[in-house]
Amino acid sequence: MSPRLACDVSEGVWRAIQERRRVGGGSLGATVDAMLAVALDIERHTLFQVSTSAALVQGVFGGTTTVGDLRLHGDFGLGTFAGLDGELIMFEGACYRATASGALSAAPDDAEVPFAMIARFVVDSRDDIAGPLDLSALMSRIDQLRPSANLFAAIRVDGRFDALAMRAICKARPGETLLEATRHQSEFTMSDLEGSLVGFWSPEYSATVSVPGYHLHFISDDRAVGGHVLEAQGHGLSVSLHTESVLHLALPGTADFLSADLSGDHRAELSLSETEHRSD
Ligand SMILES: [Zn+2]
Repeated sequence: MSPRLACDVSEGVWRAIQERRRVGGGSLGATVDAMLAVALDIERHTLFQVSTSAALVQGVFGGTTTVGDLRLHGDFGLGTFAGLDGELIMFEGACYRATASGALSAAPDDAEVPFAMIARFVVDSRDDIAGPLDLSALMSRIDQLRPSANLFAAIRVDGRFDALAMRAICKARPGETLLEATRHQSEFTMSDLEGSLVGFWSPEYSATVSVPGYHLHFISDDRAVGGHVLEAQGHGLSVSLHTESVLHLALPGTADFLSADLSGDHRAELSLSETEHRSD
């Protein structure tokens, strides 16, 4: 539920809102929200991304921004920390780190980040799913909610998760690529958790910049556990979607990024890194 604003306004402001509404055709609430967002310089449908998935695949893991900077660009998202030291989850404005056991801790504003996708989450569309259903069935349902295969979408799924298989990436050894680092990631399963999936759907054409398809992290309601989701089974789920029509890509100025070869097709390696279980 979004916050409600009830207040007195001057006659002039009221006339201006009515005029804007007459032109734009939206509801009163949507019109006021859009006008305030512009006045307050809020990037409502902007996905803020730090670095590219190709750079991550190539082993560019050094911190290029901080959690504090990410929080200026949104309240919702995911990523990782410098050196691949855990999974980043931004939820309702707070930032968390999931480590090997799946235990969550608050990530301080000065924690360094090499890759992240951050949005200002506002619900554009919603659907309730009784379930139970697994992750691939859930993704199919979300497919129907998405307005287009060519827009990025932020996705939030609240509910009861009967089973979750997750991973937390663990600090990379010097010189390792993403795929090599995921070979020694920590994997864990959990059951009967209330919580939320937090993530994005990215278009296929964004493969060298983003992670095409679904990329979801989990955070429990009590903020105790989380991670990068590999498999899930849930019921009583509420799916919320926020489409992103502007992509703000912040490219690192680090020597590692500047000298990396990002020209190839990293799709297969990226897909393995994001969805594969550890090989041992
Ligand atoms: Zn992830």
